[in-house]
Amino acid sequence: MRTLPNFIGGEFVESNSGNRLEKFDPATAEVIASVTASDHQDVEQAVAAARLAFPSWSRTPTAERARLLLALASKIEQHQESLAVAETRDTGKPIRLSRSVDIPRAAANFRFFATAILHAHSEAYRTDNQALNYTLRQPRGVAGLISPWNLPLYLLSWKIAPALATGNTVVAKPSELTPTTATLLAELAHEVGIPAGVLNVVHGQGAAAGAALVAHPQVPTISFTGGTVTGAAIAQAAAPLFKKLTLELGGKNPTILFADANLEEAVAGSLRAAFENQGEICLCGSRIFVERAIYQRFLDRFVAATLRLKLGDPLDENTQQGALISAQHRERVEQYIELAKSEGGALLCGGQRPTLEGRCRNGYFLQPTIVTALPIRCRVNLEEIFGPVVTISPFDTEQEVIEAANATPFGLSASIWTNHLGRAHRVAEQLECGTVWVNCWLLRDLRVPFGGIKSSGVGKEGGDEALRFFTEAKTVCVSYPSVDEKPT
Ligand code: NAD
Repeated sequence: MRTLPNFIGGEFVESNSGNRLEKFDPATAEVIASVTASDHQDVEQAVAAARLAFPSWSRTPTAERARLLLALASKIEQHQESLAVAETRDTGKPIRLSRSVDIPRAAANFRFFATAILHAHSEAYRTDNQALNYTLRQPRGVAGLISPWNLPLYLLSWKIAPALATGNTVVAKPSELTPTTATLLAELAHEVGIPAGVLNVVHGQGAAAGAALVAHPQVPTISFTGGTVTGAAIAQAAAPLFKKLTLELGGKNPTILFADANLEEAVAGSLRAAFENQGEICLCGSRIFVERAIYQRFLDRFVAATLRLKLGDPLDENTQQGALISAQHRERVEQYIELAKSEGGALLCGGQRPTLEGRCRNGYFLQPTIVTALPIRCRVNLEEIFGPVVTISPFDTEQEVIEAANATPFGLSASIWTNHLGRAHRVAEQLECGTVWVNCWLLRDLRVPFGGIKSSGVGKEGGDEALRFFTEAKTVCVSYPSVDEKPT
């Protein structure tokens, strides 16, 4: 069993209160770690360490900061296997995903922002013959970074990398449900020589450690990824302190299949979008809309493909569906399945806890579940479930499906499957969300702006958006006479 301390000022330390949390393996329901439960005192200590490190880190030459972040990326790659196993044991996700997506992406995040900062530029404007204006992009100080449990290192590193590259120092608060890889990252950061206090990790529950970080007057920047209700509470706490905030929140994303799509590819793509990571990705396509002409053919293929998904031990390389994050979360997803039945839905498959033998017999598994025959505006079709549950509905016209897709309070992403070029552009323009994928899903380029609208959040991450978010623009206006008045 691991013991996970905080990492503050370059040292691994216990919380002031000595309180700890138990961390369960979702696949076995066994306790696998004891995690420091921090409160406002520990956050105070971490912020003090980050503030102390800020003047020196912010003045460290960009090339040196980039070198350290590149070294960290290489370290992550060297430790890819142990990080992947830790991520799978914390989350219950298939090891295949941790190995191919989560950990490589964490390394890529550091590599991307380490090199992006070397090419960063700022604006300059000449005002007629009177002045030159130029813009300084300066780091903002201590950044508070709060992340969820579904893609732990992937999402935390997506925040840490741009924050550090731009010269901020960081207090990171990973999810209490998936704390391990954040501590492993801190160890690697220490090994490569990232100076003490530049990266601090504080473990603990949201209401204690997370809220203390958001409320701290000397943390002017908060980057949060998590649920919409938490995002609203954070916005409320941060507003009177005028903090700069990005909120990457929940989703209820539509997958739209037109009759002219390549059906085989659309089935494979929408299956992945529905059930990857047990449906526990904010970008999952949890509402599928299919043009009526291909509705039945799609359903037959989609149900058959769902039944073929291999559910089992997340540490088995062949597993495609692992365990849900917690007993409580599985119960919440099951309540939505019951709600679907009471709202008139028909279950085409799933809805049950599978029976597993051996070490996973007590794990929090749930069969992938398909529901049809639901009204577009019922709760199951409007609220985020964040589990292996997908609804499928037929449609007749382009306008009808656009309205249905936009019917939820969320606006994170969408995918469209069609071979009609004009329709793809036309529909993409009208969907209310931050990202639209055409004939693909979760194809990510780290340079593009990423983030949601409506209840899916505020602000964007990725590429230049992240570099702007973690810096403050300062305009310097230098007046100069067009002619020298005094002869030299
Ligand atoms: P959550 O909101 O419960 O927790 C997220 C983080 O916030 C955790 O670290 C938690 O400890 C902390 N927290 C909780 N209450 C807090 C408070 N009052 N103040 C400060 N911090 C607090 O979310 P979760 O259950 O961990 O994650 C699932 C949610 O995250 C889903 O809604 C999902 O859609 C969303 N998500 C969004 C994105 C995106 O990019 N938009 C990506 C991944 C997950």
